[in-house]
Amino acid sequence: MVRRHVAVIGAGIVGAACAVELLRDGHQVTILEPGNPGGEQAASYGNGAWLSPSSVVPPSMPGLWRKVPGFLADPLGPLAIRWSYLPRLAPWLARFVRAGSRVARVEATARALRPLVSDAPERHRALAAEAGVPELIERRGLLYIFPTRADFEREALAWRLRRDNGVQWLELDADELRQQEPELDRRYTFGVLVQAGGNCTDPGAYVAALVQHAVGQGAALVRAGATGFRVQAGRLQAVQTAVGEIACDGAVISAGARSRALARAVGDRVPLETERGYHAVIAAPGISPRHPMMPSDGKMAVTMTHGGLRVAGQVELAGLDAAPDWRRAEILRDFALRTFPGLPRDLPANRVKVWMGHRPSTPDALPVIGPARGCADVIHAFGHGHVGLAAGPVTGRLVADLLGGLQPVIDPAPYAASRFR
Ligand SMILES: Cc1cc2nc3c(=O)[nH]c(=O)nc-3n(C[C@H](O)[C@H](O)[C@H](O)COP(=O)(O)OP(=O)(O)OC[C@H]3O[C@@H](n4cnc5c(N)ncnc54)[C@H](O)[C@@H]3O)c2cc1C
Repeated sequence: MVRRHVAVIGAGIVGAACAVELLRDGHQVTILEPGNPGGEQAASYGNGAWLSPSSVVPPSMPGLWRKVPGFLADPLGPLAIRWSYLPRLAPWLARFVRAGSRVARVEATARALRPLVSDAPERHRALAAEAGVPELIERRGLLYIFPTRADFEREALAWRLRRDNGVQWLELDADELRQQEPELDRRYTFGVLVQAGGNCTDPGAYVAALVQHAVGQGAALVRAGATGFRVQAGRLQAVQTAVGEIACDGAVISAGARSRALARAVGDRVPLETERGYHAVIAAPGISPRHPMMPSDGKMAVTMTHGGLRVAGQVELAGLDAAPDWRRAEILRDFALRTFPGLPRDLPANRVKVWMGHRPSTPDALPVIGPARGCADVIHAFGHGHVGLAAGPVTGRLVADLLGGLQPVIDPAPYAASRFR
């Protein structure tokens, strides 16, 4: 097995998991992160906290193209496109729509997503225990809620993709749903419980704990961003940063939505966009739902976290630099109020914390994991879109296998950057 000095670029969940797995194999590790590991700049901080084996359904599904005019017309819809960003977005958007245009394509995507998420709760449990924070991972199942059974049936293709990929669930009628979730609004009369699902109670603290664990195992943490690579005769010599070069013979690009320029610097043009998302966290909500939930009429994750009731979701295609549109977080808060009548009606602003973050998204909903075209010592590990929290641990294992020359834990072929050439 090859042992290297590996620079891990970015300390969200993906970089943190890569660092832990690389250390496990005896590599020397330097983590480069300009922000706080797991801090608010990272998508890994503010996500819905779902560790979902059922996340095999890509966001682009057959018939989506018909909805694009609506996405442009309604700036506050669950998926919105900013007009001003459309010229830059158009090539990615065309690929995104095409990725979901045929059933056979979304079936292939679901098959490729499956190994990334199928055992996510178990992998997170093991990692969290190793890092000394087992209490941050829960396994209570994940509950999808619908106004009626007919609403569930309208999502037949999505649920078939899940079933075909080994996801099992329990269907709950109105009474059973009421017993499971007595605080839920009565407009929901049908539920689907994926018992194998899990959740994290504080994703930011979890990532920070993994990085602290990595440092405890000998990793160096350098508070700087990577700017490029020095490669000679196809071999990596160093990663360049604002504070000078880090000499190394391996690197991982795990800078989330900001990975595109780094990938380009080692020969791969990846159409990486950001699907911006939001959350609202209601502190001391005075209710205690038993499961994380996803209302079909809101398409948002509602999860109890250490900070309070977190409502996370929305997709806004507006690029990395545009200012947040906080009305979107208010939509999430208001939806929570409609979903749980027991929430206090007169929430003062200081009880609701809002956040916006950047999902790192490829048009085909699959991450980019594997060696860079211009230098095989550099491994891509970004583009996990909607499933990055769940898929972080197996990505970390796969990256360590690839850099160490080991038999890969899962087949990396579907995630190669070469699919975009
Ligand atoms: C609203 C919302 C809800 C979501 N819900 C879920 C969910 O329930 N379950 C799930 O599995 N996924 C969910 N996701 C997706 C998930 O959060 C992301 O896929 C995942 O966090 C991506 O992790 P990452 O480590 O690749 O990137 P990030 O967490 O964004 O981390 C990247 C890190 O790289 C650093 N960085 C950037 N540039 C550089 C550089 N040049 N050099 C060094 N470091 C750099 C950044 O500072 C950052 O800390 C959600 C996302 C959002 C926005």
